[in-house]
Amino acid sequence: MIPLVKVLMPDKAILMPALEAVLYSGMVAEGESVYRFEREFARHFGLTTVVCMSSGTASLHAALALAGVRPGDEVVSTPMTAEPTNMAILYAGAVPVWADVEADTGTLDPRSVQETITERTAAIMVVHYAGYPARMDELSRIAASRGIPLIEDCAHALGAEYGGKPVGLQGDFSIFSFQAIKHMTTVDGGALVLKDPSQLDEAKRFRWFGLAKGVARTNVDIKAIGYKYNMNNVTAAIGLAQLDAIDPIIARHKANGAYYDREFAGMGGFKPARFEAAASPSYWIYSLLCDDSEDACRSLAEIGVEASKLHRPNNLHSIFAGSSRELPGLDRFYRRLLHIPCGWWVDDETREKIVERLRRG
Ligand SMILES: *Cc1c(COP(=O)(O)O)cnc(C)c1O
Repeated sequence: MIPLVKVLMPDKAILMPALEAVLYSGMVAEGESVYRFEREFARHFGLTTVVCMSSGTASLHAALALAGVRPGDEVVSTPMTAEPTNMAILYAGAVPVWADVEADTGTLDPRSVQETITERTAAIMVVHYAGYPARMDELSRIAASRGIPLIEDCAHALGAEYGGKPVGLQGDFSIFSFQAIKHMTTVDGGALVLKDPSQLDEAKRFRWFGLAKGVARTNVDIKAIGYKYNMNNVTAAIGLAQLDAIDPIIARHKANGAYYDREFAGMGGFKPARFEAAASPSYWIYSLLCDDSEDACRSLAEIGVEASKLHRPNNLHSIFAGSSRELPGLDRFYRRLLHIPCGWWVDDETREKIVERLRRG
C-alpha cells in the first residue's frame, strides 16, 4: 500500500552516532543541542526568533498565551484542520469562533473572518491546511486594521512560501510541528516563531514552569504560569540530523504537487485545490476536489494507494458544539475533498499510476 503519510528518519549512519553521543553525554534534557537546533532551524528556513517546544500543540498554547488570549476570550479559527489547532484554544480557556473556509481552497475565507470578529476577539488563528498557504495578505490586513494578533499554524506547511517568503513570517506568532508524520520529524516536537524578539524570555519561561533557565533556582521568583513544554537534547539531535537532508524531501513534495496540479487541471470530475498566485504550497498531502470522492477513494484502493479525507472538521466534535454555526464553504470543500499521497515516497511511476486510474474513472 502506498501510504498517505509516512515517517522519515535520517540515514542510520548519520543519526545513530549523533544520538549515541547525546544519550551518553550526561545532558539529555534541554541544553545545547536544543539551542543549536533552534538557531539552525531558523536559519535553514529563513525564520526569525524560534523557541522549540515539546510539541506543536504546546507551541500553539504558548502563541495564544503570548498573544494575550485570556479565559473567556474569543479566537476566530478554522474548523478545517487537525484537532490540536482548536484544542490549544481551549487550553487557553478561550472559545473558538468558526470562520468559514473557501470551498475551493479549504483555507480561511477573509470575508468570513471579517464578519466573525467581535469586540471579544483576542486572536485570529489561520492554518495553512495540507501545506497550502492561506490568503495571508488579506488576513494580515484585517488583523492589523482591527488590532488583533494573527497566529499562523504552519504544522502542515514547512517549506511553503507566500509572496516569495517562508510562511510563518507574516503572523505575530507562528508554529511548526515535528510530530512523527509531518514533513520533518524529531519524533515529537514543535517550534514557536516570534515576530517580536522582545517576547523571547517570556516564551522561554512559558515552556519551563515559569522559570528562567540559568538563574539559581533558590532565588528565582515565578510571576506567571509556565508549563513543562521544553524540547530535549535527544529530540533536538534528531532534528539537527534531519535538517541536513530536508531540502530534497520538501522539493519532492512540491514536485509531486505541481505534477498533480497540471494533470488534474483539465480532467473531468476533478479539480486541484486552488491557491493564490502569491502562494507556493509545500503539499504535505495533496488536496484533490472530486465530484465523487468516495468513488475516487475506492478506485485508488484497488491499485494499492491510500487516500482519505484524513481529518474530521473540528466543528463536528461534541466538545466544540457551543461554537456551532452554518459553514457552507466548509461543507462543500469537505464533501469534495480527497487527500492523495504526494510526499517523498511517491515516485514518478506511482504518481502516474494514480492519475491514470482516476482518469479512467
Ligand atoms: C500536527 C499538527 C499540530 C501540532 O501537533 P503536535 O502533534 O502537537 O506537534 C498543530 N496543528 C496542525 C494543523 C497539525 O496537523
